Order: sequence, then C-alpha cells, then structure tokens
Amino acid sequence: MRPYELIKAKRDGQKLQPADIAAFIDGYTKGSVPDYQMSAMLMAVFFRGLDDAELGAWAKAMLFSGEVLDLSETPGLKVDKHSTGGVGDKVSLSLAPLAAACGVPVPMISGRGLGHTGGTLDKLESIPGFKVDLPVSEYRRLVREVGACLIGQTATLAPADKKLYALRDVTATVDCIPLIASSIMSKKLAEGIDALVLDVKVGSGAFMKKVEDARTLARTMIAIGREMGKKVVALLTDMEQPLGRTVGNALEVVEAVEMLRGNAPADYTEVTLALTAEMLVLGGKAKDTKEARHALFASIKDGSAEKKLRELVKAQGGDPAAIADLSKLPRAKQTAPVAVSTAGFVQAIDSEAVGLAAMALGAGRERTDSVIDPAVGFVLEKKVGDAVSAGEPLVTVHYNDDSLLDVVKARVAAAYRIGPERPAPRPLVLERLE
Ligand code: URA
Repeated sequence: MRPYELIKAKRDGQKLQPADIAAFIDGYTKGSVPDYQMSAMLMAVFFRGLDDAELGAWAKAMLFSGEVLDLSETPGLKVDKHSTGGVGDKVSLSLAPLAAACGVPVPMISGRGLGHTGGTLDKLESIPGFKVDLPVSEYRRLVREVGACLIGQTATLAPADKKLYALRDVTATVDCIPLIASSIMSKKLAEGIDALVLDVKVGSGAFMKKVEDARTLARTMIAIGREMGKKVVALLTDMEQPLGRTVGNALEVVEAVEMLRGNAPADYTEVTLALTAEMLVLGGKAKDTKEARHALFASIKDGSAEKKLRELVKAQGGDPAAIADLSKLPRAKQTAPVAVSTAGFVQAIDSEAVGLAAMALGAGRERTDSVIDPAVGFVLEKKVGDAVSAGEPLVTVHYNDDSLLDVVKARVAAAYRIGPERPAPRPLVLERLE
C-alpha cells in the first residue's frame, strides 16, 4: 500500500500489515516518506493505538532501521536496565558495577538529562576524564573485558527512533504508550542484550503519573521484548519524591559510590538492589532474588562492587582516584540552606518541581544544547515522613552563581509540603511484572 492508503487505514481504525509497517518506517528513515506523512501516521496511532501484532512490527522496524549489536563474543547472558526517568535517579551508576561484580555483563546505552529528569551520561561526565562517546568496538571490548560499559546513543543504533522522536516532540505525539514503548525497546534491543530489567517510575516526578499508565507501559514493553525473544522484567517504582538525598550530577556520583560502600539512603539502596537482583536472576547468576541479594550484599561488603566501578571509570578514560577520594569530584563554591518556617512533618516533595529547580541552577538541561554545571545541585536534608522544627534546613543548595540562589531557594521551598501529621510510608516497589 502507498503511504497515503496506510495513513487512511490507520485513521479509520483498520489493522496494518507487518510488511506495510516495515516499509513505511524504512521509507521514513531513508527519506522517501516525508515528515508530513509520518506526522499524520503518528497522530493516527495516537488516537487508534497499535494492536500486539502491529506493535511488534512497528518496534521491529525501528530496531532494524540500524545496526543491531551482537555481543555473543562475551560469554554469559548480557542484561541491561532501563529507567523511564526520574529525579535523583542515580541507580545505573551503582547497579552496573554491582551486576558486573556479580558476573552479569552489562551493556548500557544511556541518555542525557532533559527538562526535570537527570541523565546517566551527565552524571558520569562529572567524573574527571570520563568518556561516554566511545566507538562501538571499544564498547564491545569493555563489556567483554570489564563486564560493563556505559555509553551514549550512537548514530547507527535505531536511527528511526532519533528521527521519529524529534518529530513526535513537535507534533504532540510523545505521550503515547505504544510509541514510547517502541522507542525505548528499539534502542535497548539494539545494544546486544539477552534480557532487560525495566524500572518504570510512577508519580509526580515521572513520565507516568498514574500506576495504571505505568502498568500499561510496562506490559507493552514486555510484549515487545517477548516478540523479539528477550526476557523482560519490569518493576514499577515510586517517584513521588526524589530518589535518595542528592539531585545534581557530581553530588549523585558521591551518593552512588556511598551506596557501593553500604552508606546510602534506604530508598535509593532498596530500589537499586531490587532492580539489580532481577538482573542477576535473568543473567543466570542467582536462582532467585533472595540469593541475588546475598551476592549483592557480599560485593558491597568485600569492596568488589566499588572496585568494579573504579575499573569501569579507568577503562572509560576517567580518574579512578576521584572515586577512591570523592573530594576530587567537582564541588560547588558555595552552599546555602533552605530553611522551613513552621515545624511539622514533610508530607510531600514535588519531584518535578525539585528537578526543574535543579535545572534552573544549572544541573540540568532546558534544551539539548544547554551546558550543565556538574558541581551544582541539592542535598535533601529532609525527605517525606521526616520531622522538621522551625528554622531547620530542608535542603542544602550547592551553587556557583549567586544570581540564581534566591529564585532557586524559593522554588525548592515551594516543592515541600509540611503538615502536622507524619504521612503513612509508601512502598518503593509498587509492582513486579514479567
Ligand atoms: N524515552 C524514550 O526513549 N522514548 C520515548 O518515547 C519516551 C521516553
């Protein structure tokens, strides 16, 4: 069928054939299908959705629009984790060395932060010298020799997604579950993985604000993985408040290293261990998550997880001394407290508002070409459920530019809700799907 007929068929609620979907996406990637026809198709998909067979064909066409890496030269099952993005989400920084230290090779292609969410690549680049733009040959070698490698998206992996994402961004078709799921899965399946753990964040700081939407997204991604013969497990995790106590690139690296030393906040530690335990089971290194957790605790206790991170940092051009001695990481020139005027309990922290305030401070990116300051950010002295007395600091702001301080402090203070009662604790892992 011609592109016009395919658009009309989807608009009218008819089912598209896999070969037609493949030809349409191939034509778009190569330029024979123009932006205006793909825009119309995206809007038709937005309203009509894709059934399982269409979704599989759509994701497969995106995956095979570029190179699909083969890492079979590395023995064992290669397992990655993908997060749908949150605030203070530094899980990958500790999860990759933990899994690798326990024998699961981790090929990880990550993203940069945009808007209120942070990006793993920006966090890694706050380690002096760390390179995220390694060639694919080096990525392959490091997965084999070090057991993990974390790099940025390359031009050759899922090129259809790069073009489609940019088009979705300007045609109001980003927030569409089949399009999100196929975008994420096409990139992840191109990395050379055998299995994948998904961290689908739910709450004020996440893409998915409601559990039902997060569940549908998780199920859709699991279905795509199944269609491609890959095992996928998803955890829905809480993003009603930032994860851990730090927001900002170098500050989050410090917290991640502290996690590998057994010194991190309980929420961040728990989410990391829950996800990494799933990776160990999928990678065949533990029979269940209980056994996996024993192995993970052992790698923290004997220092092998931190050692693996230093090895990874060195292999990617970074200075491992900055991991051993965290004072060598970038540090902001000044700090200032954000104090509370009334006593009570922290009832809620609007993660999105904290993420946007961090962006305004220079820790995040408003546009893809914005330059970030690796040293700035927040330490959350109080989290949901903590008691506060009048005058106590809620947050310590780490900053370099005096002119931003007052506005940022006001925004952070406004993100906190203080009330007279301690709120009931929320579960961190809301659901597990496979
Ligand atoms: N992240 C992606 O990679 N793709 C989407 O469509 C949305 C979030």
